[in-house]
Amino acid sequence: MDVLFIESNEPLTAVKGVGEKVYERLNSIGLFTVNDALYHLPSSYRDMTVTPLNAVVPNETATVEGVVETEPAVVYFRGGKNRLTVFVTIDGVYLKATFFNQPYLRNVIREGDTVKITGKIDMNKLEIKGQTISKNDDEGLKVRYGLQQVMHTGTFQKIIKNIFESFHISYELPNEILEQYQLMPIRDALYILHFPETQESLNKARRTFKFFELYHYQIKIMEKRQRARVRNHHYIVDYDNDKLKEFIKTLPFELTEDQKRSTNEICRDLKDNVSMHRLLQGDVGSGKTVVSGIAAYAIKTIGEQVALMVPTEVLAMQHYESFTELFGDTLNIYILTASSTKKERAIIQEALQNGTADLVIGTHSLIEDDVVFSKLSLIIIDEQHRFGVNQRGRLIKKSYRKNVLYMTATPIPRTLAITTYGDMDVSLIKSMPKGRKPVITKWHTFDDLDIILNMVRHELDKGHSIYVVAPLIEESETLEVENVSEIYTFFIEHFGLENVELVHGQLKSDEKNERMAHFENLEKKILISTTVIEVGINVPNATLMLIYNAERYGLSTLHQLRGRVGRSDKQSYCILLSNPKTENAHMRMQIMTETTDGFVLSERDLEMRGPGDYFGVRQSGLPEFKVANLLEDYRILEHARQSAIMYINKGG
Ligand code: ADP
Ligand code: MG
Repeated sequence: MDVLFIESNEPLTAVKGVGEKVYERLNSIGLFTVNDALYHLPSSYRDMTVTPLNAVVPNETATVEGVVETEPAVVYFRGGKNRLTVFVTIDGVYLKATFFNQPYLRNVIREGDTVKITGKIDMNKLEIKGQTISKNDDEGLKVRYGLQQVMHTGTFQKIIKNIFESFHISYELPNEILEQYQLMPIRDALYILHFPETQESLNKARRTFKFFELYHYQIKIMEKRQRARVRNHHYIVDYDNDKLKEFIKTLPFELTEDQKRSTNEICRDLKDNVSMHRLLQGDVGSGKTVVSGIAAYAIKTIGEQVALMVPTEVLAMQHYESFTELFGDTLNIYILTASSTKKERAIIQEALQNGTADLVIGTHSLIEDDVVFSKLSLIIIDEQHRFGVNQRGRLIKKSYRKNVLYMTATPIPRTLAITTYGDMDVSLIKSMPKGRKPVITKWHTFDDLDIILNMVRHELDKGHSIYVVAPLIEESETLEVENVSEIYTFFIEHFGLENVELVHGQLKSDEKNERMAHFENLEKKILISTTVIEVGINVPNATLMLIYNAERYGLSTLHQLRGRVGRSDKQSYCILLSNPKTENAHMRMQIMTETTDGFVLSERDLEMRGPGDYFGVRQSGLPEFKVANLLEDYRILEHARQSAIMYINKGG
């Protein structure tokens, strides 16, 4: 998504010096309008400020100035690689400077020239590993653009200069903001980004531009949110508060503080004359189901209906079970999926149409046209990022009173929450229900297999269930990774066929369900599987999660897998079995052993992977900024957000 304001959509041919030929070249790198060029900012800056030799920091790149003492000499190696060597005197010290693969410098540099050299300087060896050497009087900062060699930096900068001379940049951030955050006028910032003079002013220009991007982006989302927040008397769900309170008292446990707060927020939305558009976020097992069930009950008190849509059949089944367990006595609950029979379907359709069904839980099946509600007044969508906008839209269209509660167990770092869910209200469940013991996580290498088998034996003896996750791969793929079927055989050898079950993604769904059932009803205590169990299986008896080749998974997946254990008051364990080969994998193993907090993990995941790759969010199209960086600019984001809120509250 692009965030930029419009100065001129005129084609670049309107700029002095841009003829057809130059225009075509600019087009070839995606630049068509005056705006495009103006916001095609340098991809990097090189500081050409001279550092005195005695102030150079070892191993850091610096620019020094000196005199060339010898004619440059080039040596060629195999494969066309080459090295140019020249001796120079810098601040009275005689040094050897080398440059790799820049043989043409031989024709530029002469004995006796005064030059600037940028590179790393080793004062012990009296050597410079040079990156650039130039004898012109480059001052201050040099820019580099992503121009893919269609033109020289200088040519492009000339075009930009001409734009500044003949086009007016009318946009400005409000004065209060410029003052409060010590920013510079946008026009100046933009100019300095193209033509930087000092590092200090460049920093300020960058800060200004980041603020500007983040501010506008957030105003955009907030305006979108405002447009969606249509007020209408019809949206009021005037549920029976007394009944609701009574009902909450009958629950088998006391709600956690976070659950109470989330419930209040949701109920406030219902009573309000605006349609609900809220995200309920909380780790696996944090108790979202209960909260959404309370909201469902509120709807029932006025005789209207609730639909809960989930991405998979397994998940639908699991939700159906936990809802029935908690709310089966008070709500009339149905389940509708692709495997519902014709007869079941007919019964459900009838109950939905005549209003006897209070809650229907289902998959995409709910979207279909023949599923008609009497009065659908709350839609709950679980793992919403796994549905397309159209799918959600089709269900929402069936609303009588439009109220949508999205739920996600994928913890999203705060930065991303602000940007991706900026148009939603967010309720957060951070703490787990009382009595839960954090899962103890240990990382072992394959050398420790004996220790691990002992742990499995130990848990098995206590009657507990055990998950073993292993990669599913073709035998030839790699010799180093243990295959799920080899591990199956291995476990049968150690623990007997009567204890071990195998499930993988290539099984037919019937077969898979049957085998899963063996594990769920505790007939078999060890389940060997691929990550198919990642979604939707609930065996509170399980206390050990063993993950083979854990380095193959990202932090989010590991966290989801670990969430399968620790679902009772028994102490649970997660064992990561891995001989990591990369620094990154090593770090992941380390982090997993250090925290069980999904939010902390998601922040670390984001740091390690970057927002583009971020698990689960990729589809939702993160904004791309020219200068701002969601990972680094969190503080600016917060400030820009405050300013954007003020702007919106003033009425835009
Ligand atoms: P989520 O949907 O967030 O994964 P659930 O709502 O399924 O979590 O809750 C997980 C388990 O914790 C369920 O068995 C539920 O009954 C139980 N639970 C939920 N809230 C509480 C609470 N406040 N105190 C004790 N147990 C709770
Ligand atoms: Mg409402």
